[in-house]
Amino acid sequence: MKWNDFSEWGRKVADWTQGYHLTVGDRPVRAKTEPGEVLNALPQIPPEDGEGMEAIFRDFEDIVMPGITHWQHPRFFAYFTSNAAAPSVLAEFLTAAIAPQCMLWQTSPAATEMETRMMDWLRQALDLTDQFQGVIQDSASSATLAAVLTMREKALNWQGNTRGLAQNPRLRVYSSSEVHTSIDRAIWVSGIGSDNLVRVPIAGDWRGMDPVALEAAIEADLAAGLVPAGVILCVGATGTGATDPVAACLAVARKYGLYTHVDAAWSGSAMICPEYRHYWEGVEDADSIVFNPHKWLGVQFDCSAHFLKDPDDLVKTLAIQPEYLKTHGADGIINYSEWSVPLGRRFRALKLWFLIRAYGLEGLRERLRNHVKWSKQLHDKLATHPDIEIVTPPMWSLFTFRYAPEGVEDLDDLNIRLVNAINDDGRIYLTQTRVDGTLVIRFQAGQFETTEEDVMMAYDVITEIAEGLSR
Ligand SMILES: *Cc1c(COP(=O)(O)O)cnc(C)c1O
Repeated sequence: MKWNDFSEWGRKVADWTQGYHLTVGDRPVRAKTEPGEVLNALPQIPPEDGEGMEAIFRDFEDIVMPGITHWQHPRFFAYFTSNAAAPSVLAEFLTAAIAPQCMLWQTSPAATEMETRMMDWLRQALDLTDQFQGVIQDSASSATLAAVLTMREKALNWQGNTRGLAQNPRLRVYSSSEVHTSIDRAIWVSGIGSDNLVRVPIAGDWRGMDPVALEAAIEADLAAGLVPAGVILCVGATGTGATDPVAACLAVARKYGLYTHVDAAWSGSAMICPEYRHYWEGVEDADSIVFNPHKWLGVQFDCSAHFLKDPDDLVKTLAIQPEYLKTHGADGIINYSEWSVPLGRRFRALKLWFLIRAYGLEGLRERLRNHVKWSKQLHDKLATHPDIEIVTPPMWSLFTFRYAPEGVEDLDDLNIRLVNAINDDGRIYLTQTRVDGTLVIRFQAGQFETTEEDVMMAYDVITEIAEGLSR
């Protein structure tokens, strides 16, 4: 293909994209593909000769699309949403066209400076103090890894990178049992080891970390000669939206001089609305905070906003400067690759700029507020059903429930069959989790184009399919 043909195909792709988004609600949400189906439809050997775009595009529609689960479907109520609002998709198209590498200021000055400005826009949108500076990471997992590495280096007096962990004392990191698996992975990869991730007991309706138990755990470790390194809090955890009491836990961490990281990957978007900020009251005392604009805010994947109280700690942990990366004579500029594990970086700030300008913060707030309101409406209606039990109350737009008709022995089995039957049906998509060992069904609303009607349709689908199940 030649660039001369690009505009023709670019138009076709744009038309296809618009049509897809306008009609995606007519498709089953979850792919109905059997394992191996797509693999078998793809030739086993690569072509020797080039093919025309016509054939490639036809196969895209015939082979790929039937095997896609539609994350942009308005009745995607599983996991958390991974949105792709129209302006951010356009920005990604442009980013793909320019394909800049944004590792250093000089390798793309506009990308670096826009990243600085966009992260400050987000900081203001969340009402964080101007002590925080931000960087865009590819994912919350990467931000958490960067924070855990910083914790490690601080606790080891900056000796971990050079001496390794063998010569050093055993570090301890504290979190609740509700945190995302990306925390476990960061603990593995950092070499701290999962035996040293202390699971502090939870308490209360928000299923958050008990600060008294946190302090007791730190004291016990100190008495045993171990070295506490940091505390990882969650605000809006994946299973049920569990939220740690941020102010009280950060106060304990500060008392012992520990580095702190707050994972608000999903719920952080909601903090553009003042009425939800009580959920993380005290967060300005954290050292590091992450949230994913690519989840609820509407930005096309991937885009993870990482705020730091003192970026110097992070840079001291991750910066590496061989001669070819030095930018002589340019003091005081930011080279964002020193703020993250990967060197190469995409131009992610552009889609934030497009999104925030296209909707304004008020337009984004309205969407989030509607999702919370409609989800609560659905919750209230399900709560009146005689055989449905609400298991955890709404946290933002997320709640959990289970189908519990009288006389059924194995409710876990019944509920897993219910989730499968709902997802095979295709009108909505839900996922399950466990709460204190019990299997429950999660519901969350957050797709950018979802409507009240879409959300309330979940009631009809859930109850109709539940009542049709054999017991
Ligand atoms: C989604 C999520 C993550 C992981 O986000 P990635 O960007 O996919 O790494 C971490 N923590 C929470 C609470 C999440 O909801």
